[in-house]
Amino acid sequence: MRTLSQYAAVLALALPALAFPLYGQQHPKLIVLVVVDQMRADYLERFAPYETGGLHFLVTRGANFVNANYEHMPTETCLGHSVLLSGRDPVHTGIVANDWYDRESGKMSYCVEDANSPLIGETGPAVSPKNLLGENFSDWLQSSYPSAQVFSISLKDRAAILMAGHHPQGVFWFSHDTGRFITSRYYGDRVPDWVEAFNHRHVVDSYAGKQWTTVLPLSSPAYHAQEVDGQFPHEMPNQPGRQLNSAVYGSPFGDELLEALAETAVRSNHLGENEHNAPDLLAVGFSSNDAVGHAYGPDSPEIADEQVRLDRTLGRLVDVLTTRIGSDNILWVLSADHGAEPTPEAELTLRNNKAARRLPFSQALESVEGQLNTIFKVSGKMHWFAGQTDTMLYFDRAELARHKITLSAATDALTTQVKNVPGVDGFYDVTHLDSVRDWIGPILRNSAFPTRSGDVYYLTHQWTLFSSKATGTSHGDPWPYDTHVPFVLAGWHIGAQRITDRVQLVDLAPTLAELTGVQWPASEVLDGRSRKDLLDVRTAKGEGRCNASAEPSRRVPSSNGDSSPR
Ligand SMILES: [Zn+2]
Ligand SMILES: [Zn+2]
Repeated sequence: MRTLSQYAAVLALALPALAFPLYGQQHPKLIVLVVVDQMRADYLERFAPYETGGLHFLVTRGANFVNANYEHMPTETCLGHSVLLSGRDPVHTGIVANDWYDRESGKMSYCVEDANSPLIGETGPAVSPKNLLGENFSDWLQSSYPSAQVFSISLKDRAAILMAGHHPQGVFWFSHDTGRFITSRYYGDRVPDWVEAFNHRHVVDSYAGKQWTTVLPLSSPAYHAQEVDGQFPHEMPNQPGRQLNSAVYGSPFGDELLEALAETAVRSNHLGENEHNAPDLLAVGFSSNDAVGHAYGPDSPEIADEQVRLDRTLGRLVDVLTTRIGSDNILWVLSADHGAEPTPEAELTLRNNKAARRLPFSQALESVEGQLNTIFKVSGKMHWFAGQTDTMLYFDRAELARHKITLSAATDALTTQVKNVPGVDGFYDVTHLDSVRDWIGPILRNSAFPTRSGDVYYLTHQWTLFSSKATGTSHGDPWPYDTHVPFVLAGWHIGAQRITDRVQLVDLAPTLAELTGVQWPASEVLDGRSRKDLLDVRTAKGEGRCNASAEPSRRVPSSNGDSSPR
């Protein structure tokens, strides 16, 4: 366990000057970061007619950056959650994929893996934020306000861990094995009493035998506008156990479970009640939207119902916290870690997009390996790649050496001579990204970290879904359906406004820092910048004004010319 005092000693040296609150005592008492896994920006508008709860509150009462994108690849959970509060792209966080190939061990490495931080009271992968390089907003917050408390919770370990920085008071996630919320030894020697008390309530077991039916009448246009059949009702298993835990995780009930823990976290730790007026931070990563999205796709009645129910679940959290702490004392943030690709079947049926197709990645790989065999006149079978991810290929360097092929010759051949690979637009040499001139250049340069990235990045063709499954969808590409996500600030002194300027999610942390009088160490290289200049921040109660500033966009939009949501 790293104690606060240990960090304080290090930070005292690292920080040239500690922050001062920008607004005297007017900073929020509690910052609540809500990150919905796989939530696309367009969901906020599509399902708005059916929402009156938390999503409705945040969008209608807050500042909605309607043109906010990630500019990295792959657009995966570990990257999104690590970017949001660090203000840095993967090039500076080192979190380059959910799982990357570790050349030293010769194995795939999980983004939060840390052999020195076993789980407490459970078996499972040992995890910590060790792989996240540098600090994030939670660390800066605690440096600026030493009595500030930071908690992070999610159904996913990687989501909770990567939002929380390096010395939070607590980080908890859901165990599919036991249905408990757990933590690792990095964060302490035991699970705190308030979490154990929550676990003893066995909330997840209360869903045994329940049906997930639509919350609105099945005849509602919320479900039928998309003309894709739903598969309601979905039955939860009758008996407590792993199957029930996973079924709850994969339904809107998982959001309810996490919301209940969020309320408990606030009550038990008196968040927002700091006697020294330090702002506390609660990060809440809702994971079930990702599971529903993967299984049924963004056009499904299931994702519609997940969103409408999430609105109600978040509404409860907003009500409970507002009653307890006061609306002007809470700064709400809503975002997501990435979007989602439409299923190729829905894209073709609903929008007649003939470019949409589903392909097993093995087809692309066979084409690549076959062409490399021809280029290098390899007879027989050669194991070209030691590892691969959704966007990267790692050459098998020992195998290259056995065939007397240099790494640079192999990389050069792959990036310049291999053509017409099914579903792939292009291959990029990780050591020569500076020379990539078109729109993908900045995205690649934001994404690559030398010792962890592959030798080659590849760009999947827009509307191609690499999948060996017959149904469902995924995410990971730098196309708008995967990069365009919500970015909403609400509550506290934020006025209601709709901001159309193009911003990035990497801008969130510096924006939050400026709003709350928090400063980061001078040694920290941030890729984002504060967008407070675009915000209507009231100094007293009153309506927000409409934002009229129109700053030119900072980065070039995607070459497909379509930065609008789908
Ligand atoms: Zn995710
Ligand atoms: Zn996912």
